[in-house]
Order: sequence, then structure tokens, then C-alpha cells
Amino acid sequence: MRESGEVAGGKVDVVVVGAGPAGAVAAKRFAEEGFSVVCLEQGAWPDYGTSHVTDEYLELSAGKQWSPSPEVRQSPADYTIDTTDSDVEPLIWNGVGGSAVMYAGIWMRLMPSDFRVRTLDGVAEDWPLSYEDLSPFYDRIERDFGVSGFPGDPAFPDITGYPMRPAPLGRAGRMIAKAHNRLGWHWWPGSNAIATEKYGNQGACVQRGACMWGCVNKAKGSPDVTHWPDAIRLGARLILGATVREIEVNSAGIATGVVFRDKNGMDRRQEADLVVIAANGIGTPRLLQMSESRKFQNGLANSSGLVGKRLMMHPFAAVVGVFDEDLEAWKSVWGQPAYSLQFYETDPSRGFLRGAKWNVTPTGGPQAMTAAFPWGGKPIWGENFHKTVASRLGHSVAWGIVAEDLPEEHNEVLLDRASIDHRGMPGAKLIYKTSQNTKDLLAFNVDRAIESLTEAGAKETIVAPMIRETGWHILGTATMGTDPAQSVVDQWGRAHDVPNLIIVDGSTWPTSSGMNPTPTIAAFSLRATEHAIASRRQQVTA
Ligand SMILES: Cc1cc2nc3c(=O)[nH]c(=O)nc-3n(C[C@H](O)[C@H](O)[C@H](O)COP(=O)(O)OP(=O)(O)OC[C@H]3O[C@@H](n4cnc5c(N)ncnc54)[C@H](O)[C@@H]3O)c2cc1C
Ligand code: SF4
Repeated sequence: MRESGEVAGGKVDVVVVGAGPAGAVAAKRFAEEGFSVVCLEQGAWPDYGTSHVTDEYLELSAGKQWSPSPEVRQSPADYTIDTTDSDVEPLIWNGVGGSAVMYAGIWMRLMPSDFRVRTLDGVAEDWPLSYEDLSPFYDRIERDFGVSGFPGDPAFPDITGYPMRPAPLGRAGRMIAKAHNRLGWHWWPGSNAIATEKYGNQGACVQRGACMWGCVNKAKGSPDVTHWPDAIRLGARLILGATVREIEVNSAGIATGVVFRDKNGMDRRQEADLVVIAANGIGTPRLLQMSESRKFQNGLANSSGLVGKRLMMHPFAAVVGVFDEDLEAWKSVWGQPAYSLQFYETDPSRGFLRGAKWNVTPTGGPQAMTAAFPWGGKPIWGENFHKTVASRLGHSVAWGIVAEDLPEEHNEVLLDRASIDHRGMPGAKLIYKTSQNTKDLLAFNVDRAIESLTEAGAKETIVAPMIRETGWHILGTATMGTDPAQSVVDQWGRAHDVPNLIIVDGSTWPTSSGMNPTPTIAAFSLRATEHAIASRRQQVTA
């Protein structure tokens, strides 16, 4: 499958920036309704042939060209991100499918309470929409991304079915489930965007647990598999190696289209009636800030001053349990065979606000036994090397702990004019400091996870307290709300300042929840797109 359309043509109905989940959902839906759509994506199609070369080298590419860190892989698709003032390293993939090419496929809806943090806990802001508003879009998105799971979790009473049965719990999942039954703690079989049987464009999962560096079997629901082939067939044009450097507006403040640098380094213009931004929580504020003009001197859509502010990155910790039993823990989905929401909601007696979601995580193959993650950063080289690898390999399983972090003004994405990338564009600079609330929240959850694994029979537990290289969820930098003075976009993703500019990615989130974000990003994008389609006759255009 190649890009469709080598060059930009005349004016189109919709130009989409970014071909990850948010952009793919919007582009496909607009194309289904007969809109002319061009998507500009700075990366390329993922070449899975360079990922899982042979069984022996299966894990090695994950530390190089398939690293989730742009800092490590240094691909031409990446832009510069300065993280020297960030506690967390951002992890993204720039290309068709976006960061979902790398994602574990863990599939969690938000909880109803996640939309009402201000009302419930007196901090941050409520979302201008509710769980009930998003629920029908979750249903559709779960079909589109090929989600497998087991309905009936009391935490989600309205989920009556998933397209496919869940991935097996495995020995480790069963041991932990029994332990939680004894403790009286919540657990549920995992929901994942992983096909457990052939499903649409997706193949069936073979349980080799290599999901986080590209799924060669195309079982994982990433948009290069689930959306783009169909969107292109429906007429959407995907232009690759195309980095958007400016959203153009006319003197009335209406967007006229975008300027992008093509793969040959030439600047080109794509005119459009509607501009849809889906460049993620770093790429979106970077692009808005690059789009400053005489009329919008502080960056585009930034009359609130909130573009780039309130960055949230879900600080993450893990606790590994090492068991005597052979759990065959390398043989699983890397998504979540099971999850727990036992400590998800605020309990004032704990001394912090909000909570965390836990997912059972396999520990991987031989090379993963030697990595810093999730082994607490302690190197194991030396005389006990073989003994330690043997005790861990297949015998270990982790709880991954996703912490909700609250929006704070000083955590932000700035345009880094001092660092010009190979395309001649400024990079991004992150400032992110973990709050005391988040530190307390993680410490509490780590202690509970030790209890869980000990109850399951672990002979040893190893804590990776807060891991720097886990910035896989990047949220909040173009926040949504009803008041234009306190937010960048409204509940439909429409920029308050620019009536035909829509932002559909996770930068719109007022609060971060403790959930893996892609289902909500995709459902929000679909809802925003449906609204744009329904209101096309009233849409202001240039
Ligand atoms: C290792 C890893 C594991 C993860 N695991 C999970 C998980 O299990 N579950 C979950 O829910 N989420 C997970 N995530 C997060 C998930 O991948 C993201 O939530 C999701 O991809 C966000 O979708 P998006 O479309 O908003 O942004 P992205 O997927 O990041 O896509 C943005 C796209 O925009 C393009 N772009 C940016 N700027 C420009 C520009 N100026 N011009 C042209 N193109 C541009 C980029 O190249 C990119 O392709 C994980 C992420 C990583 C990295
Ligand atoms: S475990 Fe399944 S989803 Fe993950 S990489 Fe293997 S086949 Fe793909």
C-alpha cells in the first residue's frame, strides 16, 4: 500500500494534519460522506519487514529503529523534542497509523467520573461533555479498531459486547485474578485493540507479546491496518513526508488551508474549507505556535493563552512479581490480559486526589530481562547474570500502573526556536514536573500492587517507581471547554478563535483520567467529525 496522491491539488473540503488514530478516524468518516479529503502526514507507512526480522533478532529492533522514543530512533520523520526539563520522556511514532503503530493496544474507555473532576474533587475543570455523550461513539470505534474483550465489568455496565472474545488470561493472569478474588479487589479480563481471530483487515493474534514494536501479523488495531486502506479506497488522499508548518488564515481570521514542506524540502500550499488537526499533544501545540501571524501574534487559536499549557503525561510505575512457577509469561499479548480499577476513584482518606488504573503486563523475552524497564533500573550484568535471567524469564509478570496527573499551568509544550530540525523548522520543548499529588498517588498504588503480587504467590517483588521513558500518553495542551477565555476548543473540537479549525486529538483533554487514551481520542474525533458533517451547511469557510 503506497501513499495516494503524490502532490497536493486544488482546494479540498477538508485537510487533515496527522495520520494517527485521531486523523485516520476523521479522514475516513469525511471520505465516507463524500467530502474531498487530503491528509498530510510527515512520516511514511510502517515497514514491518524491518521490525521482526527473525526470531533471534525479534527484540533487538525495539531498542533501535523501532524504539518508541524519537530521541533513540532518530528517524527522518521525527522532529526535535527537548526533554531536559521534563521528568518524563515522550514516546511517539510519526507515520501512517501514528503512535498506535507502537501502542500496546490496551483499550479502556474513561469512567463517567473522569468527565467531572471539578464537580467531584474541586480541582481542574469538568469536560464539556459526558460519558453518555461519548458512549455511542465508543461502540462504533470498538468495531472499527477490532477490539477484543469480555463484557459485564460492573465498572462499565453499558458495555454489552465486544467484537471479539478476549485474549487468554494466561497462567499469570489467572494467578493474579485468584489473588484479587481472595483480596476482594476488582479485576477483569483485558480489553485490547487486538484481534483474537481474523477480523476485517486484521489478522489473528499469535501471542508473541511483541506488540509495542509493530505487529507483523496485523492483529493489532492500528489505523494503518484498520482505517487507511479503506479511507484511501473511499477517495481520501494521503500525502506522506509532508510536514505542515503553518495553518493559514485570512484577514477575517478564517482558515484558508495549510502550508507544508514536502519530502523534497519544497513548501507547498493545500487550501481547504475545513482544517482538522490531529498531530497529538506535542505536535498540535507546536503547529499552532508555528502558525503565529500579525492577527494571531501569540500563536493561532491562543487568545486564552492556553495553547501548549497543562501538559499531562500519565506518570507510570510498575511492580514485577517473580514466581517459582513457569508462567510462560513471554507468551501473551503485550496489551493487557487483565486489568484492575480497584484504586481508580478518589478516596480522601488516602491523602491524594484521583487514582490509577492497573494492567497485567508480560515481561517479555530474554533481552527484556536485562532492560531497565520494568526492573527498577538496576543493571544485572556480572556473575549472577545467567542465574537472574533464568529466574525472571517466563517466571515474572508486572502490574503496570497508569497514574492520573492533574493539569498544571507550568507543565507545557513550548516552541523551541533555538533548535531547528533537519526540515528547517523549530522543535518542541517540554517542561514537565511531576506533582506531589501524583507522587503520593503512585507510591500508594505501588504498595498495593506489591500486596497483590505477594498474595498471588510472588517470591520477590521489584519496584520500578516512576519510569522516565513512559510518556506514551500526551494530553491536555489545547484544552476544551465552554469559556473561550479558559479553553482553546469547544466540545466539538472547534477552535473558539477560528471557526473552521477543528482539533481532534488528545491535546483537547481538560483532565487526563487514569486510562489509556486512544479509545477516547478516537471516539472524540468521530463525534467531532459527525458534528462537522451534520453542520456543514452552517460552516463558516474562507
Ligand atoms: C509505546 C506506546 C504504547 C502505547 N500504548 C497504548 C495503549 O496500550 N493504549 C492506548 O490507548 N494508547 C497507547 N499509546 C498511546 C497512543 O498511541 C496514542 O494515544 C494515539 O496514537 C494518539 O493518536 P493521535 O492520532 O492523537 O496521535 P499520534 O498517533 O501520535 O499521531 C499523530 C500523527 O501526526 C503526525 N504529525 C505531527 N505533526 C505533524 C505535522 N506538523 N505535519 C504532518 N504530520 C504531523 C505525526 O507524524 C503522527 O503520525 C501508546 C503509545 C506508545 C508510543
Ligand atoms: S501478540 Fe498479537 S497483537 Fe501483539 S504483536 Fe503478536 S500478533 Fe500482534
